[in-house]
Parts: sequence; C-alpha cells; structure tokens
Amino acid sequence: MIIVMAVNATDEDIKQVITHAEEIGCQANLLRDSSRTIINVVGEERNLVREQFSLLPHVENVIPVLKPYKLASREFKQNDTKVEVKGATFGGQKIIVIAGPCSVENEEQLLLTAQAVKTAGASLLRGGAFKPRTSPYTFQGLGKDGLKLLAKAREATGLGIVTEVIDISELDTVLEYADLLQVGSRNMYNTKLLRELSKVKKPILLKRNFSATLNEFLMSAEYLLSGGNDQVILCERGIRSFVEYSRNTLDLNIIPAIKKVSHLPIIVDPSHGTGRNDLIIPMSRAAIAAGADGLMVEVHPNPSEALSDGEQSLTPDAFRQLMKEVKAVAQAVGRDV
Ligand code: PEP
Ligand code: MN
Repeated sequence: MIIVMAVNATDEDIKQVITHAEEIGCQANLLRDSSRTIINVVGEERNLVREQFSLLPHVENVIPVLKPYKLASREFKQNDTKVEVKGATFGGQKIIVIAGPCSVENEEQLLLTAQAVKTAGASLLRGGAFKPRTSPYTFQGLGKDGLKLLAKAREATGLGIVTEVIDISELDTVLEYADLLQVGSRNMYNTKLLRELSKVKKPILLKRNFSATLNEFLMSAEYLLSGGNDQVILCERGIRSFVEYSRNTLDLNIIPAIKKVSHLPIIVDPSHGTGRNDLIIPMSRAAIAAGADGLMVEVHPNPSEALSDGEQSLTPDAFRQLMKEVKAVAQAVGRDV
C-alpha cells in the first residue's frame, strides 16, 4: 500500500504513519524528495486496512497495490515516467537511440564511432569499460582508462555516455564519468548492487536477465525505486530459448506487456537480442512498432576486428540506414526520432 502524504505533513504525521505500519507488522519505507513524501507499506494484505491509514493526519491518498511490484506499477503511477539523460528524454514522444561500441578499445575507435553515431542522429553514446565477459580469457575492458576515453568522446561530441557498472567496488569510479549507469543482464538479480544504485542520483538503465520473467524484471526495478532512485529505464535484450540461429530471442511481447502494467520507459537492445548484424535493423523497426521508447545498438568502425561482439555490431553506414528506417516506423506510430 502506498501512502501519499499532503505537502504540509509534518515529521510527526509521517512518524505516525510509520509507527502504525510497524504496529500491524508491516514494513514502512519512506521516500521523500523536494516535491513529495510517500510511504511504501508492505506486509500481509489482510493487515493492510485502507481506512486505518487514510484517517491519519495529513494523509492525502492511500493507494492499494495488488501487484508484487508497487512503485513500478501503473496502479501507483498512471502517467508514463520520463527519464532525462543529458538532454535526451526517455518515455516521451521522441525515440531515443543509444549507440556505440560493445567495448571501448582505443581512442581512435571510440571517437570515430562517436562522431559517426552522432551525425546519424543518436542521442547517447554507449561503450563498455568494465566488461562482464562469459570467458575469462577474452578482452575484459579498459577499466578506468575506458571511462576516460568516454569522457573525451563526450567532450568532442556533446553526447552523454552510457556505461556498465559491474561491481559495487567500481561504483564511485563509474559515477564520476557516466551519465546513465547500465546494469547488465547478468547483474539484474544482484540485489546488493541494485540497493547501492538505488541511492545514487543518476539514472539507471536496467537490462533484463536472459531468464527473467516480467515480474522478476520489475521486481529488480522495484529495488531501485524503493531505495529512492526513480530514474529507471528498462531494457529488453533477448532471452534464452531453444533456437539455434540467433544468440538470444528478442522478446518484443514484453514491450506492450510492460507498458500495460508499469509506467517505466523501456528500450530494446537488438544487438544482444539477436547476436546477428543482419537482424538488427528489422528488429529495430519491429521494436519501435511494438511501442519501445528507444534502442541501444552496438556500432563499430570495423566490426570484424572488434574485441567483443563484432558479429552483432553495425558499421557506421548500416547504422545510418537503421536511423532512416526507424524514423519511418516511428512516424507511422506517431512518434519522432
Ligand atoms: C552490454 O550491453 O554491453 C552487455 C554486456 O549486454 P547484456 O548485459 O545485455 O549482456
Ligand atoms: Mn556487447
């Protein structure tokens, strides 16, 4: 149950709500910013009697939420959430495209890519510095040096940067450089990392784990929201299935399914979702047609020489073509690029 306090509620009023929640054996989580104070009360349904809260002083509204995820649900918030990252607004009219290499490899590779994707119309630059690789024998990323190169590319192009944080120990370093912090698929279930990220003042791009159900995906988002970070963008990046012709199966069903039950913006990563450069453009068109708020695409100046994920990276030319085709679909469904 979500308790929304009136703007003139005092600390005493808030304390009274929390005390009542605790008295009935529930857990109360206070979320407060300059514009609103809400208390998320969770516990056994039968103990949660709406009137017992609504009659307390300066309680403005009591919203019963039946879903396991509360703050991520449309029951709690009906209007679409908009998340702003360096001038790009996710969840609005405009389709936001994030593009860049899987891994930051060197200055030339990154700057060439950054310029190319910017010219083609991308809004943000992606690039992995700390890489969660399947094999310990493959390129693990440049670490902090990679972040420095991303900052250089931001300076050169004005594009905000998106990069992954794999571990709490690197969080402060990544925070210094990133405009949007990515939680990778493998870390979607890392609740300790999510709790830390819930306290940061920067937006989070949360990628779906390749085996996560819709509920599990939104429960991970709930970790971020319940800790006080309401700038959360979801990302569908393909799930495991029995097919052998693609790396993953891009689950576009989840786009309208999530839109129905959650107010959070959701984008699609057709690179990891397919693992094949020839499927990226068609699946990007499909993602936008299905209602996605944006895309995240891997682009490399020379994919055959990429240190990671070359087979699912577009050349700058192919990326230009993607933007052209996505624009046409976006217009057809009443959106802009
Ligand atoms: C990535 O986007 O760099 C990445 C590693 O993707 P995922 O976490 O979806 O595998
Ligand atoms: Mn990759």
